Amino acid sequence: MLLQSVVDPVNPRKILVTGGAGYIGAHTVRLLLQQGYDVTVVDDLSKGYRHNVPDGRLCQVNLSQTATLAELLRQTGCQAVVHFAAFIAVGESMREPERYFANNVGGSLSLLTAMLQAGVRHLVFSSTAAVYGTPHETPIREDFPIHAVNPYGESKVMVETLLRWFDEIHHISSVCLRYFNASGADPEGHLGEEHQPETHLIPLLLRAVLTGQPVTLFGTDYDTPDGTCIRDYIHVDDLAQAHILALEYLLSGGPSDQFNVGTGAGHSVLEMVRAVEEVTGRKVPYTIGPRRQGDPPELVAASEKLRTRLGWTPRYADLQSIVEHAWRFACKSRP
Ligand code: UDP
Repeated sequence: MLLQSVVDPVNPRKILVTGGAGYIGAHTVRLLLQQGYDVTVVDDLSKGYRHNVPDGRLCQVNLSQTATLAELLRQTGCQAVVHFAAFIAVGESMREPERYFANNVGGSLSLLTAMLQAGVRHLVFSSTAAVYGTPHETPIREDFPIHAVNPYGESKVMVETLLRWFDEIHHISSVCLRYFNASGADPEGHLGEEHQPETHLIPLLLRAVLTGQPVTLFGTDYDTPDGTCIRDYIHVDDLAQAHILALEYLLSGGPSDQFNVGTGAGHSVLEMVRAVEEVTGRKVPYTIGPRRQGDPPELVAASEKLRTRLGWTPRYADLQSIVEHAWRFACKSRP
């Protein structure tokens, strides 16, 4: 692979990853290490898990500790930061917006201040399709209006704004990766999705298969071909690889930019139920419930920009691989 030849084994690139004990962060750390990078993880373990981080890589630090972060950046000689650490639950953000703005925006501002103090000039930011709110059409392009409809999405918009000004004034270049539906698990089964509480579709479908307790499908009366919502599910390793491409882009002098990270293909909730039944060979027990507040009928990425500008191609663009890998992990850590 091209990137392996970019990384010098004698003098590997040094990268700081915040939130590297969480779902997407841990998969990215694993891929970075496999591809020869030297990685330091910062995570306060408020959501992530120690067992997700290889021994000797974790610094248990909260992002509000600016001086500690600056010292860590200096000591490790990191050339760039990949910033995942954030709260991610939309529903919770509607109940406790103050926590979301304090942690997601305040934490990012503290991190950027530490980067300034340590002279680190590149950052890849974990953004979200939620910055678009309910878009007027799909597929969603990066130049669509930004209009978050919940504090979680708004906190990411605010960080994107911080990044624009830190580039303009302090010349910190950044790539904002706007994720669609991160899903699946490490193909070798070492890592997977473990949220507390779990709210995401695939782990909940797999849990229903394993426990026999029905999962609720949120609405079958949408204006879509089968009445259920359509989403763009992207394998977590393909998402992780997008971060590595973005890092190399910034380290080789690329200007700040924003990219969607999705495959460009939409799948409905019922299609996902069928995929889970095919992979597991069992029926998914489910009931049909009302719509979940704030769920747009269809969210699919226009992914051309990421493909053409960063040379990204998904390795696991099919639902089968995504569900197979998630199933392997779910069986290993069964409830
Ligand atoms: N969903 C569902 N039942 C659940 C969880 C999710 O029907 O228990 C649906 C949800 O309404 C959405 C899709 O599955 O249409 C994906 O939801 P998820 O929470 O995984 O991701 P989101 O699209 O909210 O980021």
